[in-house]
Amino acid sequence: AKSIGPGNVRNFQQYMLEDLLDNRSFENDLANAVKNNELVVYYQPIADAVSGEIYGYEALLRWFHPARGAISPEVFIPVAEKTGLIHSIGAWVLAQACQQATQWAPSTRVAVNISPLQLLDESLPDIVRSELKKNGLDAARLELEITESNFVNQSARSLATLRALSNLGLSISIDDFGTGYSSLSRLSSFAFDTIKIDRSFVSNITQQHGDLNILKAIVSLGKSLNMRIIAEGVETEVQLNYLKTLGCDLIQGYLIGKPAPPGQLKL
Ligand code: C2E
Ligand code: CA
Ligand code: CA
Ligand code: CA
Repeated sequence: AKSIGPGNVRNFQQYMLEDLLDNRSFENDLANAVKNNELVVYYQPIADAVSGEIYGYEALLRWFHPARGAISPEVFIPVAEKTGLIHSIGAWVLAQACQQATQWAPSTRVAVNISPLQLLDESLPDIVRSELKKNGLDAARLELEITESNFVNQSARSLATLRALSNLGLSISIDDFGTGYSSLSRLSSFAFDTIKIDRSFVSNITQQHGDLNILKAIVSLGKSLNMRIIAEGVETEVQLNYLKTLGCDLIQGYLIGKPAPPGQLKL
């Protein structure tokens, strides 16, 4: 009760102000990050579950802030979405990834994360088409990964963008499958090419019997819809063997390789 004195109230307001200014400077810093070369795209391998052959790489964005050090995309992507910067940052990642993929073997795919908000931009298919053309990259080598979102939902505009993207000849994956609000209804609203099973189901393979059955059900659901199935966050041989037994097509995780800058990939 003592803490509710007038002095403390002022302190509290001061904190609020500092916090606000701090957020603003964070947003400003993010706006300048591309131009200041603070953003870097890392790539994580995706391998064939049976042969172990590299199927492709997922582009994962990194921000090395000059004062704050490395900031997780889990922290700055939501800020980019809130400020609208996601559109320019997303286009930049796409450009980097398409260019990078031309350095790889001609069958190696590149997967790029697309925010659900980017699907509200009707010019996205044109942006993607022109990046493919500019780099001479076959559309079949590009996969776009889209997470579920409780605020964009299945708006007519997002679905139209998804269809236009798909018509370019690229693949579309439903990311973090099983964790969102509308996994199952999304499957019926659009013909996704690939399901990426969320890491949480994979990490619980050896722990929770219930999750194991859900994992089984997700794989057979995906197979019955003719979708490719990628398991994320595979860290152990036990997990790998189990996923192979289930008939999972592709695996991604620290067992195969961590995200790394382009120069450090074992191609
Ligand atoms: P995501 O798309 O689900 O990416 C997978 C995340 O799991 C990555 O985290 C990756 O580093 C991590 N991971 C991969 N294998 C393992 C493993 O075996 N064990 C564990 N514990 N983790 C593993 P990261 O790179 O921190 O990215 C976090 C999220 O940020 C991504 O989740 C994605 O939603 C978002 N993100 C990253 N880059 C972009 C981007 O360019 N655009 C958009 N819109 N979102 C991005
Ligand atoms: Ca992803
Ligand atoms: Ca994911
Ligand atoms: Ca995720």
